[in-house]
Amino acid sequence: MSQSSLLWFTNSLRLDDNSLYNAVSEDTKLHCIYIYDQRTELFFHLGEKHLSPHRARFLEQTISTLDQQLSSLGQCLHRINGDYLESLTHQVQQYSIDKIVTSRHVGGYEQQAIKAIAKRFPHLQIAVVETATIFQESQLPFVLSDLDKSFTPFRKRVEDLVIDQPVTAPTSLPPPIHKISLSKPVELKASFNGGEVAALQHLETYFNSTAPLTYKETRNVLDDWQSSTKLSPWLAVGAISARRVIARLSEYELQNGANESTYWIKFELLWREYFQWYALHWGDRLYAFKGPHNRNPLTSYDAERFRAWREGHTPYPIINAAMKQLKATGYISNRARQLVASCLVHELAIDWRYGAEYFEQQLLDFDIASNWGNWQYLAGVGADPRGHRQFNLEKQTQIHDPKHRFIKSWDGNKGF
Ligand SMILES: Cc1cc2nc3c(=O)[nH]c(=O)nc-3n(C[C@H](O)[C@H](O)[C@H](O)COP(=O)(O)OP(=O)(O)OC[C@H]3O[C@@H](n4cnc5c(N)ncnc54)[C@H](O)[C@@H]3O)c2cc1C
Repeated sequence: MSQSSLLWFTNSLRLDDNSLYNAVSEDTKLHCIYIYDQRTELFFHLGEKHLSPHRARFLEQTISTLDQQLSSLGQCLHRINGDYLESLTHQVQQYSIDKIVTSRHVGGYEQQAIKAIAKRFPHLQIAVVETATIFQESQLPFVLSDLDKSFTPFRKRVEDLVIDQPVTAPTSLPPPIHKISLSKPVELKASFNGGEVAALQHLETYFNSTAPLTYKETRNVLDDWQSSTKLSPWLAVGAISARRVIARLSEYELQNGANESTYWIKFELLWREYFQWYALHWGDRLYAFKGPHNRNPLTSYDAERFRAWREGHTPYPIINAAMKQLKATGYISNRARQLVASCLVHELAIDWRYGAEYFEQQLLDFDIASNWGNWQYLAGVGADPRGHRQFNLEKQTQIHDPKHRFIKSWDGNKGF
């Protein structure tokens, strides 16, 4: 007898290199869903209930693209508004679902929903597939509870491991249980357009250029499209996989030669990898003021100072420019993130969680693990072995913006 499977998309919104499809039983009818759970748009510290327009647009484009792609395989994507658990429950009951397939997710709400649905329906088969990381947990040369406290030993243990080749995109899928009409085609307007099609195009454009050969020297430039890969928004929603990026990087190295810069792209992707495992390992302690190791930050909340930071009205021009760029575009460079985070914690003495939450609301590339992990690191309560990292803002301005080009260009509100 044919089965009914539910494919719950969360953080892997793509066809390519996505083992979710392999976990769907062959003799099955398939129901594909994406759930908008409002709790993921609730910002407790900020007291606000919405994503930035940039983040919302990028996510919407990504979901519409996935729907278009699924429809070319005879499938469709159902968008559901509601609590994860109640939405899953409703779908399981309405469509007599036998099996749920979904990605492993670092988010607490997602993890709780899967645990609870398994309890609620003991007959359900549940497949939780690792689609967001370079390695599977079983490939790590240690058990997760022994994850290194900082990045360098982790990198040394994993960087020479063989990385699996990306899985090819499916050419057919089981038929839908219930067909609905297709989303509107995605309008591509900005530099960062959501969705897998734009992601793969961007990957090709970047690796058809000479930019990867100078990545290590340019990656700290404050405001330039080619200075770093700019892949983070697509990686964050899973419109592209880290394994696909690494496979394309290896091809590039074969054609153009490997150098320190090309190595450094993988190095940074391993930072991402580290934070994914860090988040899975530490669970809710990722959001804890004192971090996983119970350190005591000497900061608190001050509404006025926080507003000044957020709106770009601090005494530090480089910070103001970066915060204006963040608000106007949803993206700032890694160096700008380090500087504004350091300023919030050290110059303004504000509780780092307010900054992390503001980034969560604004960033196109918001990723739970990378964002909260980096904020803990910068606040001195996370994976930084030094424990205190304060950037000298004047010195950083002299190094990265000596002629004040960046500062001047963000006086007004321009986008990429
Ligand atoms: C306070 C703070 C918050 C951050 N929040 C996020 C976030 O929510 N989402 C996010 O993807 N990155 C975050 N980062 C990491 C980093 O700033 C961005 O990944 C990077 O700037 C994205 O631009 P890119 O794709 O051009 O990166 P590249 O320099 O081209 O790097 C290639 C890829 O490696 C990964 N990467 C690079 N640096 C880091 C890092 N420090 N930590 C984890 N992964 C990294 C990203 O996936 C990136 O796309 C944060 C950094 C800081 C300091």
